[in-house]
Amino acid sequence: MPDNKRVRNLPSVASLLERDAVKSLLRSHPRAVVVGAARRVLDAIRAGDAEGSAPSRNTWTDRILERLPAEIAAEEALPMRRVINAAGVVVHTNLGRAPLPGEALAAVAETSRGYCNLEYDLDAGERSSRLAHVEGMLRALTGAECAHVVNNNAAALLLCLAGLARGREVIVSRGELVEIGGSFRIPDIMAESGARLVEAGTTNRTRIEDYERAITGQTALLLKVHRSNFSIHGFTEDVSAAQLARLGGRAGIPVLEDQGSGALIDLAADGIPGTVSLRKALDAGPGIVTASGDKLLGGPQAGIVVGKEELVAPLKKHPLSRALRMDKMRLAALSAVLRLYADERRARTGVPVLRMLLEPEERVRARAFRLVRKIRARASAALRLSVERGGTSPGGGALPDVFLPTACVAVSHPEVPEGKLLARLLRGDPPVVARLGKGKLLLDLRTVRDDEVPALAGAVAEAEKND
Ligand SMILES: *Cc1c(COP(=O)(O)O)cnc(C)c1O
Repeated sequence: MPDNKRVRNLPSVASLLERDAVKSLLRSHPRAVVVGAARRVLDAIRAGDAEGSAPSRNTWTDRILERLPAEIAAEEALPMRRVINAAGVVVHTNLGRAPLPGEALAAVAETSRGYCNLEYDLDAGERSSRLAHVEGMLRALTGAECAHVVNNNAAALLLCLAGLARGREVIVSRGELVEIGGSFRIPDIMAESGARLVEAGTTNRTRIEDYERAITGQTALLLKVHRSNFSIHGFTEDVSAAQLARLGGRAGIPVLEDQGSGALIDLAADGIPGTVSLRKALDAGPGIVTASGDKLLGGPQAGIVVGKEELVAPLKKHPLSRALRMDKMRLAALSAVLRLYADERRARTGVPVLRMLLEPEERVRARAFRLVRKIRARASAALRLSVERGGTSPGGGALPDVFLPTACVAVSHPEVPEGKLLARLLRGDPPVVARLGKGKLLLDLRTVRDDEVPALAGAVAEAEKND
């Protein structure tokens, strides 16, 4: 520490805690937070400018007391905040994937404020299974004989591999040894499950004979993984789930498909190709299918396992199911979202992910013009605004080749580079996540709700100003 004579009159933390102003702070904040904030203010002063005359103890105390509330507020700031997603990715993993419908939020609040019948059968007055709240609906919506739910799709796969193939072999196409989101790699999950990976075919071409040749007396499972976040073009050949299911049937080996998206309705007729619903995936014949709850299904994080009774039912009793189980809040949310799907029309408008994917381009465009008008009303004439066409990605590693036509508000300023505008938006309140393109800041309106437009306009107008 440099010799800083200016700070020789600094009060101690103990003496600060004696002051009435601090005592009143202690009534509304934890002691550790107040003490930590006082220490940080003192440290900052000690590390500061050593020049000038030394203020008196009282002056120092007043200055510290002035800074303390802001320091405490910074410490207590909500680490997780709402953000506006104008980045043009509907299921954005870094932004929390699927926004939840109001029905799901209400169900969470209603069942979690007090006690709930999580594992209690109110008719019989005895213990029951927490899965009861979603199992029946999942069976009805997918046509499966049996359904199970765990923490997420990675957990669902881990459980299936451990429960059905530990110590034995699982055959996967080399073109499907995928990595999703950095830490999810099929070979790693396989290793953790205790199953042995057997690769079939090549990266770009795998035929049914490749699987056939790889089958041995040790084969426990044939695995098909949806290529969620990339596609292979050119000289390619793939084995369909139906082909694989027929081979499994002949060889007496179960087939597991990782469907990924959890889509419950087919969206091909809506101009969104490549979504295979869980019902269709099961109809193709694999004995067991896994998916995420928070991608195209539009619910909370969850790992869904549906399929034949003989394959799925034993997994519910596997010790890993206990380690990977869902909590009451997410079960309440999932149950509420599944109830919306009882009426497909209701799901299309009531599940936010579906509503965003299916909204007509003209409606997105109208919202973009509304945003422009609202920004205009608050920003200077120097801020250039235009509405441009663009493409929204469904995201979540759901449909790598699909882009939905959308409307973006393009923002630029002769004096403020677009990167600076973006940095200011990220630090704004609420923070806004956007994209850069062609020297402009692009705000995709497909993922912005109508009621977020005023806040977004305010954030853009603020970003124009100096920081
Ligand atoms: C997203 C995805 C996963 C991982 O799912 P989580 O729910 O994030 O664990 C696994 N497989 C496929 C095909 C996916 O698309």
